[in-house]
Amino acid sequence: MKQNGKRCALCGGALRRATLPYASRGVSFGEFEFDVCSDCGDTLVPKSTSLAIEKIAKERGLWGAGPGTIEPPVPHHRGAKVNA
Ligand SMILES: [Zn+2]
Repeated sequence: MKQNGKRCALCGGALRRATLPYASRGVSFGEFEFDVCSDCGDTLVPKSTSLAIEKIAKERGLWGAGPGTIEPPVPHHRGAKVNA
């Protein structure tokens, strides 16, 4: 498990860089790097990943369905957020 020194904004847990599949509106974009909290499972989108997804969305004509169209990735991993 690789840690990058950043901390979760929600719980202060250590964030680790993870490669996860990303899909939005039923369209798979491929796999990208995300920062995943090892404690609460919250997933952050690094700027580089945000730009990569935006680029693909524009190339495929998927952009512009709404402001700031990239939806937060749904984490498909253990430790996913639980609204308890
Ligand atoms: Zn956290």
